[in-house]
Amino acid sequence: MDPDECCDSGCVPCERDRDGVAPLDLENYIGGKFVSHSNDDWLNVLEPATGYRFARVPLSEPKDVDTAVAAARAAQPDWGALSHAERADWLDRIADALEAKYEEIATLESQDTGKPISLAREVDAHRSVTNFRFFAGLIREHVEEQFEMADATNIVISKPVGVAALITPWNLPLYLLSWKVAPAIGMGNTVVCKPSELTPMTANLLMETLHEIGLPAGVVNLVHGSGEGAGAPLTSHPDVDLVSFTGGTATGAKVAEAAAPQFKKLSLELGGKNATIVFDDCDIEKTVNGVARAGFLNSGQVCLCGSRILIQETIYDEFVGKFVDAVKSMKIGDPSDEATELGALISAEHLEKVESYVALAGEEGGTLLTGGNPAMAGEFEHGNWLAPTIIADLSTDSRCSREEIFGPVVTLHKFESEDEAVAIANGTDYGLAGSVWTGDLAKGQRVAEKIHTGMVWINTWLHRDLRVPFGGVKNSGVGREGGRWSLGFFSEPLNICLKHD
Ligand code: NAD
Repeated sequence: MDPDECCDSGCVPCERDRDGVAPLDLENYIGGKFVSHSNDDWLNVLEPATGYRFARVPLSEPKDVDTAVAAARAAQPDWGALSHAERADWLDRIADALEAKYEEIATLESQDTGKPISLAREVDAHRSVTNFRFFAGLIREHVEEQFEMADATNIVISKPVGVAALITPWNLPLYLLSWKVAPAIGMGNTVVCKPSELTPMTANLLMETLHEIGLPAGVVNLVHGSGEGAGAPLTSHPDVDLVSFTGGTATGAKVAEAAAPQFKKLSLELGGKNATIVFDDCDIEKTVNGVARAGFLNSGQVCLCGSRILIQETIYDEFVGKFVDAVKSMKIGDPSDEATELGALISAEHLEKVESYVALAGEEGGTLLTGGNPAMAGEFEHGNWLAPTIIADLSTDSRCSREEIFGPVVTLHKFESEDEAVAIANGTDYGLAGSVWTGDLAKGQRVAEKIHTGMVWINTWLHRDLRVPFGGVKNSGVGREGGRWSLGFFSEPLNICLKHD
């Protein structure tokens, strides 16, 4: 389609390049080399904030996956034979090299995802470096366990699993990829990464970085492409031993179906619909800010976001008044502006999905307290924008309050008692995270223990200690990563029993 015609019609332009600058064509990284994919199919990578195309991602096919898996398999024995300390040194070298590119990571991530630059720095760039540094320390300290018997000693050693497939989504691109790559290679596996086709830029930057520091060829490989074209052949590949997947629940089910018949080791980090429970004994001012952050960080596009806000009826009106004011004052707009708090949504398709939930909320009897489409001028006219949206008066079993929307949309609900709050929090198929806000820590802990979920924060949200288990229950996933749980998942324990004389 003619780009001008496309712009005139008001749709998201599919091939509008900034100042006529040709898009960057990305390549796969296989066996220590940047290589072309085996066909001529590409996907345009668009800036979510403007709709400008700035790169093209290869739509690889099973042949490319085969080559990458073969490269990973060939590199595994030598890499797996290194000591933990030697591999930890490599992780530190990667952290150092990424740290030197801190601003580049933040800028690329902001351009690729539409998130504010301040958030891309504080969350994405920071955690991408920290993940490598953290796992370097943990792996260096890792000691083999021993169990003594009267007449024998058991020594449990951690062996690499083999070749790992690492598949990641678009909301926290390098943050989540580094969270997998670091423990996977640290424990002696070699890997094939398949980042989201919507946000390939920092995965490419990571490969350039590994290349520059001379990581042995084949230890980390990357195949770009769609879920069907590259992701599915990777998860079902007979020479892949382990799959670590982060993404949507429906995709997770397909990944599980592909991996299960071959008994691959599998970790699934999936969607969430997390409750934020506000008791009347909370510190209202702090809670308003904390709940707004939990609801709208990254425009609600974090699996942990608290999108169902349960408020004790005694403070409902006061809390809601202050909460709506706080949310209305959030600055939405140009991601490169230091003052911006909320950026664009990832794609036109995703915006359409989120908007369809806002429309559904109206049909389900909800009242829109604030939100809708902001008027954006200039180059931002073609971006994917939605103002932070608050919906009240929905039934707790409405679709909008039970299904994952994954956008800047929260629903508000009243409760009377602790038991009622717990029942509402558990009334969804998801079980990833949650937060409880109260002046009574014993009550907070009591409530937390009754919620069917993987993680609960009390009087805070997304306060991460990388040593703790991360993951969910029910439709939010299978298994845990984080700290020693990651080391356990990315290794196979072998018990050696030595009989004494
Ligand atoms: P998605 O499931 O559409 O895609 C995730 C990745 O899987 C992408 O790389 C995609 O190309 C790939 N993929 C798609 N189909 C595949 C298939 N059949 N086989 C193998 N790979 C396939 O998810 P998304 O839209 O990119 O991300 C948003 C979702 O991710 C939300 O549901 C969010 O809650 C979830 N998420 C979960 C966590 C967590 O830690 N639990 C973290 C971030 C995001």
